[in-house]
Amino acid sequence: MNDKPVRVRFAPSPTGPLHIGGVRTALYNYLFARKHGGTFILRIEDTDQNRFVPGAEEYIIEAFNWCGIDFDEGVTKGGDYGPYRQSERKEMYRQYAEQLIQSGHAYYAFDTPEELNRIRKQFEEEKKTFTYDTVQRKQLRNSLTLSEQEVTELLHNDTPYVIRFKMPEERTVVMNDEIRGRVEVNTKVLDDKILFKSDGMPTYHLANIADDHLMKVTHVIRGEEWLPSLPLHVLLYEAFGWEAPVFAHLPLLLKPDGKGKLSKRDGDRLGFPVFPLQWTDPKSGEVSRGYREDGYFPEAFINMLALLGWNPGDEREFFTLEELSEAFSLDKVSKSGARFDQDKAKWFNHHYLVGKNNEELAELFRPVLEEKNIDAGQKDIPYIVGLVKERVNFVSELWEQSCFFFSAPESYDPKTVKKRWKTNSFDQMTELKEVLAQIDDFTSENTEQTVKAWIEKNEYGMGAVMNAFRLLIVGAAKGPHLFDIIAVIGKEETLARIDRGLEILGKKETV
Ligand code: GLU
Repeated sequence: MNDKPVRVRFAPSPTGPLHIGGVRTALYNYLFARKHGGTFILRIEDTDQNRFVPGAEEYIIEAFNWCGIDFDEGVTKGGDYGPYRQSERKEMYRQYAEQLIQSGHAYYAFDTPEELNRIRKQFEEEKKTFTYDTVQRKQLRNSLTLSEQEVTELLHNDTPYVIRFKMPEERTVVMNDEIRGRVEVNTKVLDDKILFKSDGMPTYHLANIADDHLMKVTHVIRGEEWLPSLPLHVLLYEAFGWEAPVFAHLPLLLKPDGKGKLSKRDGDRLGFPVFPLQWTDPKSGEVSRGYREDGYFPEAFINMLALLGWNPGDEREFFTLEELSEAFSLDKVSKSGARFDQDKAKWFNHHYLVGKNNEELAELFRPVLEEKNIDAGQKDIPYIVGLVKERVNFVSELWEQSCFFFSAPESYDPKTVKKRWKTNSFDQMTELKEVLAQIDDFTSENTEQTVKAWIEKNEYGMGAVMNAFRLLIVGAAKGPHLFDIIAVIGKEETLARIDRGLEILGKKETV
């Protein structure tokens, strides 16, 4: 590592919602910056106007706000190296393309798209693939094949052109990647990429390198899909005579079965989001689900994401952002792809949900209760939430696990009735009602002690009585400790539920 102050960047193109793989890239950059007391930059790479999607930049910023990933410099923050949106830096790229022409590392190419298509077709007919490379360029219309005078004339007449990188012939480029180690590629398999387009805009390659240099970026941490561009980038730094940053290419996020890159389609098929926030496509109106809207806590989402491709080198699994910043290092990022695991994601959410205090959870539960017309200000709601939180992964599941605290069962689960409402249940529950009616101190401990003593005295089956009792109070075989439930709903409601259940379920005939 060099000793300059660490500067890293996340450089998304605003072409749609940010995939969770992109959020992970941003997260690792953020953690790296925090760990080394460096600066984290957000740069928007919007030079490809055809792929620009309105709302995408705002989405990216909102997603990071939700996750708690802070930028030090960039589109929303400003800084000494702005502007941070490439479309606003447009004017400064041409000089770099021209500088490379001057130094013999790039050239003008005048081939029209029609000409190139024709050649491509010809190649296809001969079952070959055309690439504008060190061999083919010798037969095409560019400043390497045309005379100086012809080139001057074409430029003078405003003939459209692009500027291409002049790939060195047959050279082995040696690259160093922090994660993959040493990588070698021979330039004969590479093509002469366009650096500057006929519409006066730079391509990704030129703008990205120029900006990383101008913004004094020290480490480029990005997705593995950019690894094929690395030789060109390394050669561009060399051609400019600029010191290259350190490169680190992160492993892919894989489908749950490990076969290929995680895509939106996998999420749709298997029922999980691949975007941090919900996204509505501005053209089609199609809505894609998001982690936030699905009820994930940002801290769970971040914790889960951090461990997809990185590990702390020990058994720890739970990390706050601060703890991650402390623990993170590139040498613990794995080379191989990381499988997405939906159950693990839910498990992390469960962990953070259980860790919240009951008042906070009750507050999060409030909108659900209000929707059900239940007074969300009731003083025992935090207590109720505390009783059931171990049983859920999401706040939205709290209702399912606690509805019986707020209203009597409307029906009795048929399967439970079949299994747990036995021939003697009616008589035992009628008796139990009398026992409960005698109790004045209706606390959980006291009712439990009294009811259990009654069961033992009569030599009834503990399980059978408790199951039937639960069925009458809850309507199904679920819920926390039954005596805790009746303490909350109170004596009157408990007796009323028993009455109603006895009436509806009746006496089961012996068969
Ligand atoms: N604009 C590129 C992207 O959308 C940036 C790649 C890089 O980090 O160099 O991912």
